[in-house]
Amino acid sequence: MEIIRSIRAMQETARNIKERGLTIGFVPTMGALHQGHLSLIKRCKEENHVTVVSIFVNPIQFGPSEDYTRYPRDMEGDIEKLSALEVDILFFPEVKDIYPDDYKTYITVEDLSGKMCGAFRPGHFRGVATVVAKLFNIVKPDRAYFGQKDYQQTVVIRKMVEDLNFDVDIVVCPTIRERDGLAMSSRNLYLNEDERRAATLIYQVLKRAEEMVLSGESFDKVRDFMNKTLSAEPLIREIQYASLFHPERLEELSTGNISVYKEDSLILAAAVILGNARLIDNIVVDLTK
Ligand code: AMP
Repeated sequence: MEIIRSIRAMQETARNIKERGLTIGFVPTMGALHQGHLSLIKRCKEENHVTVVSIFVNPIQFGPSEDYTRYPRDMEGDIEKLSALEVDILFFPEVKDIYPDDYKTYITVEDLSGKMCGAFRPGHFRGVATVVAKLFNIVKPDRAYFGQKDYQQTVVIRKMVEDLNFDVDIVVCPTIRERDGLAMSSRNLYLNEDERRAATLIYQVLKRAEEMVLSGESFDKVRDFMNKTLSAEPLIREIQYASLFHPERLEELSTGNISVYKEDSLILAAAVILGNARLIDNIVVDLTK
């Protein structure tokens, strides 16, 4: 595996790959890699000639009181995992090169960035959209792979790609879970044993809510159930949201149930603070079956 740190070198390498008629698949990550990341990489390898993985903990997507400095970093372990998967290129840039002192340009995907997590993390999706746009210009991928785990992120990135005419296909891959259902996340490392056990409630609540939705229960009742069940867990310090959302507009679904709802799918999603970790998860409920 080739490890590239310089932006110029990455751009030159990408240009050479393309001149040889090969496709570039790209998996952007913040490192501390787990099976969720690796599933994206495996899919990417199947569909492209060359696979580029980036590791960059992006400071501008963290709020001032968030976990940027303590975000887990494990470069040695990550390099081992990526080498074992025979990833072609690891792009591992430095913060000072991505955001030099005189940096001025940011991308805001309006409206969508303020919904769901955006309401609790002002500036987060501006940071995400900006770094992903920059990485696309550096890595020049034909396809880029994202996890459904970060559902809102996939919607924001797709919209940015559409609006700014990026010539890249966005591929969204399913959420990989632990055996007890907890969505894999680098932030799960923050949980102690009791918190780790309590965290399984999130997916259980989403699954139960899915059954309720499919059986025709009103959206209000489903939302109540989600909030009541999560708030009964004493280790959950805060429920930021636990609700039903429109799959593209990300608006909360207020009244009604599936018999009056017009779309093919809806999103059940939750964000909670458990111990020192902010955990998110979601299920896309397919209503076409
Ligand atoms: P991160 O390193 O958390 O920024 O994640 C990098 C990419 O991996 C994003 O596209 C995430 O959505 C994806 N990802 C993170 N956790 C999972 C998971 N459990 N299953 C599938 N994809 C994931």
